[in-house]
Amino acid sequence: MPDTEHSADSAAHAQQVPDLLDRAPCGFLSFHDDGRIRLVNATLLQMLDYTGENLEGRHIETLLTVGTRIFYQTHWFPLLRMHGRAEEIFLLLRSRQGEQVGVLANAARRGSGDSAFYDCVFMQVRERQKYEEELLRARRAADQARDEVTAQKRALEETNRLLAAQAEELELQQQQLHEQTVELELTGEELRASNDELLERTEELNRLRVVAEDANRAKSEFLAVMSHELRTPLNAISGYADLIDMGIHGPVTDAQHDALERIKRSQLHLLRLINEVLNLARIEAGHIDYDIEDVALAKLVQDVMPMVEPQLAAKRLTLETAVAGSAIAVADREKVQQIVLNLLSNAIKFTPAGGRITVRTATRDEVPDTVFLAVSDTGIGIAPNKLAAVFEPFVQVDVSRTTRKEGTGLGLAISRDLARGMGGDLRARSTEGAGSTFTLSLPRRAAPSGRE
Ligand code: ADP
Repeated sequence: MPDTEHSADSAAHAQQVPDLLDRAPCGFLSFHDDGRIRLVNATLLQMLDYTGENLEGRHIETLLTVGTRIFYQTHWFPLLRMHGRAEEIFLLLRSRQGEQVGVLANAARRGSGDSAFYDCVFMQVRERQKYEEELLRARRAADQARDEVTAQKRALEETNRLLAAQAEELELQQQQLHEQTVELELTGEELRASNDELLERTEELNRLRVVAEDANRAKSEFLAVMSHELRTPLNAISGYADLIDMGIHGPVTDAQHDALERIKRSQLHLLRLINEVLNLARIEAGHIDYDIEDVALAKLVQDVMPMVEPQLAAKRLTLETAVAGSAIAVADREKVQQIVLNLLSNAIKFTPAGGRITVRTATRDEVPDTVFLAVSDTGIGIAPNKLAAVFEPFVQVDVSRTTRKEGTGLGLAISRDLARGMGGDLRARSTEGAGSTFTLSLPRRAAPSGRE
């Protein structure tokens, strides 16, 4: 405060406040028992911005904030009255503009009864509030930090628990893995043992196969020789029977003639049987050569027709052909002819009078390299459980319906072997009582145009 101002002020209450107290480096205030201000020093007036005003006679509460007024009425003043002093009490004073001014107050009572008054010294504590706020902030931060630490501790504990559980799980998995590895090793050993055994068996089987092939070949060769040897006496039987029948050894009676006819028929049947056995044996022994060439199936079927026409006519069977001119097989002509003849003979044999036989060719997009020739009939058919067996040698289905001497049971076996020998096959489809279809498949020469 400038000196001049101070001098003007001091003039107002110079008589009550001694100069030393007026200029003291702390606020001073004295008030009556009823709260009226007795004295205020210049330092306090300046502290509260009342410089130049006279506060004497006004109530002390004028200089207190609302909160401090309550504190004054309930604590501070009753304390002062009771004990006569109150020291280092923090109060919030109120400046003229209404700002808060924190002070530390020491107060003492003088006198007694209604004439008692109270002297107070106020030390402004600008820093304290700041420190208190900072302290509060620091405490809050500490609390927060403690909470965070607690939360983190808890999270850490949880993580630890999880880790422990995972470790346990891992240990378990490791144990399982170990067990599986042991099991796998065992299985591996078993597999190796099985493999060794399999190899041994394969070797044994190969050996047996070679033995079986040798035996089969020997059997076929034996059959071939035997068949050849049998044909010579058979031819002699037919020759001598013919001579007798011609009457060279004297006249022949009708009964003798019949007997001779039977001998000749039996001889023929036996000869055919032997020829077919010989054929089959030769095929199986691999002693058959195929003369492969382009075979026009239309021409081939045409050539076979005269051979079956008498039987067809005898049984009043109709024959239909639908053979494409472009159906060209790559095969052995004679053998294809033998197969077709066999199929046609069977169809005629197993189709009752008045029935129909069809010969047709076909190609299929999914097997463009193959040509099919199918012989169908409306005959007696074959039971499903017998169908596969008809290709076995010497198999005749339901002998009672045909006569044994009409066939040998070798025709289809030979035909299928021949078809396979040329890179084709022979298959059968049949419905008992409705008819059968035998389909010969052979390698096909693609038509130049690619279309039929
Ligand atoms: P087989 O000389 O007896 O005709 P195959 O090998 O040619 O000998 O035929 C075997 C058997 O298959 C025949 O006995 C017959 O039972 C049956 N079979 C063959 N073709 C036909 C057909 N078209 N219809 C009915 N059965 C057939």
